[in-house]
Order: sequence, then structure tokens, then C-alpha cells
Amino acid sequence: MQGKIIKGIGGFYYIHIEHQGIYECKAKGIFRNRKVKPLVGDNVEIDILDETDKKGNIRDILPRKNELIRPAVANIDQALVFFAAAQPEPNLGLLDRFLIQMTYKHIPTLIGFNKCDLIDRSRREELENIYRACGYPMLFVSVKESLEMNELKTLLNGKTTVLAGPSGVGKSSLMNWLLPEAGMETGAVSEKIKRGRHTTRHSELFYLGEETYLFDTPGFSSLYLNDFTDETLKLYFPEFLSYEEECRFAGCNHLNEPDCGVKRALKEGKISRVRYESYTQMYQELKEQRRY
Ligand code: GDP
Ligand code: ZN
Repeated sequence: MQGKIIKGIGGFYYIHIEHQGIYECKAKGIFRNRKVKPLVGDNVEIDILDETDKKGNIRDILPRKNELIRPAVANIDQALVFFAAAQPEPNLGLLDRFLIQMTYKHIPTLIGFNKCDLIDRSRREELENIYRACGYPMLFVSVKESLEMNELKTLLNGKTTVLAGPSGVGKSSLMNWLLPEAGMETGAVSEKIKRGRHTTRHSELFYLGEETYLFDTPGFSSLYLNDFTDETLKLYFPEFLSYEEECRFAGCNHLNEPDCGVKRALKEGKISRVRYESYTQMYQELKEQRRY
């Protein structure tokens, strides 16, 4: 049988099989010789040992589409970077760190602003303007007031999505909204999430229905810039790329160089100042890292 690892704890892997439920498995397969460690998100081949107790063995790991290291998860289709539009005010510098991390991993990313019941139209437009040029799809939702939640749900359909964002923005509320109430198998999952929230939390994929999974992990609320250097950072600001060819110098970092296409676009309002400042701040940080 084929399934997906949704959780791994203490040598056990929990495998979700569509329409059948969750099986507790050990990894005893031939893949152990290949030095591949099973990851949450892996699609696996299992032998069912006991249908009543739902126990089995992982026989093989199917090829991975991609993997993240921190948090450890495989086969991600997209990321949902989730922030509150207000209460707390969004830390856009942190939001940009999530974005460049995902872009670096070639993971398509959606930006979700929650708590939009708390902001007015002009604030929404402000946020839209900051992120329009970089091309990430944006959602303005309210979990509490059920605003544009069906649009969000549609974007998750049939995909495995990583949910990332700081605490307090409404991630648990979102999970609870998304987890279907009915259904034997999903009912069991939603019991688990409640417990998981208040005791030890593990990285876990939640099954939302028909090949749709959401990955929630407690350790994914802040990010370091380990994968980047000051010289490569600019590659992960997609809206810079189309102006770069107007820079006089090849390898222009868009800081103090004369005749810079990116800075011209900034002056003309084609690139957002908030995004540009996010870039210069990260650039300085990386440059200092290099010095030590
Ligand atoms: P988490 O830390 O990201 O998991 O956030 P929670 O789901 O625990 O939500 C934090 C707080 O924000 C709670 O008090 C929620 O009731 C509240 N909250 C969540 N979604 C919304 C929303 O759409 N609008 C408003 N006004 N409050 C919300
Ligand atoms: Zn430049």
C-alpha cells in the first residue's frame, strides 16, 4: 500500500492512507541500506501487518520532489506564509525572510494576511502595494469572520502546503477552521491536534481531504539567513530582477553604485521601499556575518 508519513515520534512513523486512515509503522525496509531517513511528507510503500490495530512496516520511500531541512519535511508543493494584518502588526522584515527562504528552495509561496476584520481598505491597499511587484499571490482573510476563507481553501486543494508564520497570527485558528468536523478518519486527526497544541508539539502533516495536507510545525516561526551571502541575496527579490539589466555595473548590489536600475525603479515607485529596506537590512547583516 502507498501512503504518506504525517508524523514521526520515537522511532514510529504515522502513515496516512487515503480513505483508510493512519497506520503506525516501523521502518524496516531495504531503504535503510541507502541511508535515507524517512521524513514527514515522504510518500512510502508500506506492508500492513495488522489491519485492526493499524500497524505496518515501511518497505520503501518513493523518490522525493524536494525537502526542507529546518523544518524537516519532504514533498512540499507550496508554502503559506501567514501573518496578521493587525494585532500583532505584521513584522514585514520577518515575512520577507520567509519569502526568500521559500524562493531559494523553489517553493511557490502564498502570502496570507489574517485578521482583516481589523483593518480598513487603505491599510489593505498599502500591504497589497508592498507585495504586488514581487508576484507572490496575496490573500486577505479573517478566520474569525470567515472572510475569503473559501478562496484560501481552494488554493490549498490537492496540495501539500507548509504553513509558516509567527505566533499569535491565527495559525491554530486556521488549522481548526480547515480541519473537517465530520469523517471518522479526520475526526481522529482533529482530536490529535487539540492535544498536540497544549502538550509537546511535533511537526505534523494534517490531512484536510483528497490529497490535501497542511504542514504545521512549532519550530518554524523565525529564520536565520544561513543559506545566503550578501552577494546572492538579491537573487531572491524577484521584483529586482527585471530592473537589474538597467544597472550600469554587472554584479551591482543596488546599494551605493551609480546608475542602478533597481534604485531608479525604487524612486519611480515600481519597487516598494519597505521591500528595498528589508533587502538592505539583510544585506548588512550578511556582510557582518562574513566579517567574523
Ligand atoms: P497562533 O499563535 O498563530 O496559533 O494564533 P491563534 O490561532 O492562537 O490566534 C491568536 C489570537 O488571534 C486568538 O485570540 C484568536 O482568537 C485571534 N484571531 C485569530 N484569527 C482572527 C481573526 O481573523 N480576526 C481576529 N480579530 N482575531 C483572530
Ligand atoms: Zn543596481
